[in-house]
Amino acid sequence: MKYIGAHVSASGGVEQAVLRAVEIGANAFALFTKNQRQWKAPPLKAETIEKFKRFCQVHHFTADQILPHDSYLINLGSPEAEGLEKSRNAFIDEMERANQLGLKLLNFHPGSHLNKISVQDCLARIAESINIAVSKVPNVIAVIENTAGQGSNLGYRFEHLAEIIEQVDDKSRVGVCLDTCHTFSAGYDISSLEQCEKTFTEFEQVVGFEYLRGIHLNGSKTPLGSRKDRHDTLREGTIGTAFCEFIMKDDRFDGIPMILETINPDIWAEEIKFLRTLTRK
Ligand SMILES: [Zn+2]
Ligand SMILES: [Zn+2]
Repeated sequence: MKYIGAHVSASGGVEQAVLRAVEIGANAFALFTKNQRQWKAPPLKAETIEKFKRFCQVHHFTADQILPHDSYLINLGSPEAEGLEKSRNAFIDEMERANQLGLKLLNFHPGSHLNKISVQDCLARIAESINIAVSKVPNVIAVIENTAGQGSNLGYRFEHLAEIIEQVDDKSRVGVCLDTCHTFSAGYDISSLEQCEKTFTEFEQVVGFEYLRGIHLNGSKTPLGSRKDRHDTLREGTIGTAFCEFIMKDDRFDGIPMILETINPDIWAEEIKFLRTLTRK
């Protein structure tokens, strides 16, 4: 079963995200469980949690189909003690919120070294941040997203993801999410079925599909290897649509949330329909 949806707005309450996913014909969705541009948020109310769970049940969304995303401010590989501490606490809070909502995944961008520490040191800090968080909060899997490699962001090489996983003590609590725009911008070609085969074989060898917990389906505005994070709609942009066909027809992508973060929410319903036409009948 392919779970396809989009990163929908949670404005008006997290339960509203469920209804927005239903509106676009999705059977998966992503959301922020708090304002993604702020450090602190009031705790989720019991009533909100109850509503979210009820709406999910009514509309047949299980935790396998939902991929919450953490705040953009968090840097789990921060070179500075204060920033690291703040990020780790905020991440634990995000994990708690996901757990309270009955969710089991939490998607995040690994972190940045800010040119102050080495790549290895930064990756080790990220792994240690995951170790701390999963020791404090049960159930939720830390899902590391690959990045385009803009600025000093790590996670643009499959090897970075593998190195983080390697240093996480409980492997059942760590996973990865591949973003197609980031993958392409980071220099992994997915512009033809052949290139997809090559790239995903490399992913299998370096990381392994057993860690794949989600996909972000995005077009890119920039060329292969640009190291820029500029999403486009699915059918426009520089990548083409071969990756859509490849992913929709390959059962290694079954049973995980596949989320559009494309730039025009008005056509999400249409993009989801398009993807469904590609799935193997
Ligand atoms: Zn993404
Ligand atoms: Zn992105």
